[in-house]
Amino acid sequence: MPLLEVRDLHRSFYGIRALDGVDLVVQPGTITGLIGPNGAGKTTLFNCVSGLIPPQRGRIVFDGRDVTGWRADRVTQAGLVRTGARRREHALRERAFAIARRLNLARVVNDAAADLSGGQKKLLELGRALMTEPKLILLDEPIAGVNPTLARELADHLRTLQADGLTFLIIEHHLDLIARLCRPVVVMAEGRHLAEGSFAEVAADPRVQEAYMGRRRWAS
Ligand code: ATP
Repeated sequence: MPLLEVRDLHRSFYGIRALDGVDLVVQPGTITGLIGPNGAGKTTLFNCVSGLIPPQRGRIVFDGRDVTGWRADRVTQAGLVRTGARRREHALRERAFAIARRLNLARVVNDAAADLSGGQKKLLELGRALMTEPKLILLDEPIAGVNPTLARELADHLRTLQADGLTFLIIEHHLDLIARLCRPVVVMAEGRHLAEGSFAEVAADPRVQEAYMGRRRWAS
């Protein structure tokens, strides 16, 4: 039985179909990768699965329970947690710092958490997620802005946790990490499931290459 099963999920914003009938299955014990060009709907899928926003159509079944439309705290209690708010949070933080600098408040924002490097914060986030004893962890760009040494460390941690029985679903634009860590790799494009397989398989798929063409560098 899959740990997570998403069927025919739809979500539009002002007429834009962010999710247009996406299907996704995550098998227990896997580190499943979720990739696709900008605007493919990956974040919206994470938002719906984690209960941040409700889907307009479709079904989300987690650990044998229909969790469609459940609020985030309930989904977390059921054993599905999410880490990382990605660039948007990073951009907001940068903005807050810029404002603080302008107002000469930089000293004030220099608190304990701010002393941690980006990579250390990612590890802290992962640690915090593990406190809730989850079954499935959604990782949102876990190595964005992280130095290569810490990125390798994070990958090692994920493998160890996988060996302990945890399951992961990862969005990451650094495809080298996806290639090293994830099986299967699911490719989304235009709000739908486009392809799935090993990284080598999806990378060789002409439909995947076409989806990426002119949108984002395929190699990273
Ligand atoms: P990226 O890799 O660039 O983060 P993504 O695959 O995560 O892209 P989404 O962020 O899910 O894609 O976006 C899918 C589409 O939905 C885009 O056209 C985006 O502009 C739109 N969208 C997502 N969230 C919202 C929102 N809250 N309000 C309006 N439009 C949104």
